[in-house]
Amino acid sequence: MALPKPPFEGSCLCGAVQIRVTAPPLLTLACHCRDCQKLSASAYSLTTMFPSDSFSCKGELIEGGLFSSGRTHYFCKSCLNFIYSQIGRAHQRINLRTSVLNEAASFEPYVELMTDEKMPWAHVPVSHSFSQYPASLAELQVLMESYADH
Ligand SMILES: [Zn+2]
Ligand SMILES: [Zn+2]
Repeated sequence: MALPKPPFEGSCLCGAVQIRVTAPPLLTLACHCRDCQKLSASAYSLTTMFPSDSFSCKGELIEGGLFSSGRTHYFCKSCLNFIYSQIGRAHQRINLRTSVLNEAASFEPYVELMTDEKMPWAHVPVSHSFSQYPASLAELQVLMESYADH
């Protein structure tokens, strides 16, 4: 399967936040954890990881979620659409909510995480499945390499 070709554009529900990405995706994920179910108001969240320096965003954002030190979640200030997350120790990457992208349907999830907390009827046709999170950064790196080659 060919990876979608940059640049990519997208927006929040109301259009006040516009995003643009100039690099190919690093990895696509579905996360089944309970937090993601609540944050996404769905059975699982969809994330596309990009290098931070390829991502730009116009419009006013506010922080939401649990306000934990480990991760920051950004939402449109106007429509409160979930836009992206920054994970504490990984400033070189952002986790964009795939649904924000104009071509969201072409960012098929490659990995699913946290199937321990999965809703039993939720099936995602992924290549790699984890009962929890990948154990290490090295493991994540391996996934990104295999995603780039797939
Ligand atoms: Zn909005
Ligand atoms: Zn999650």
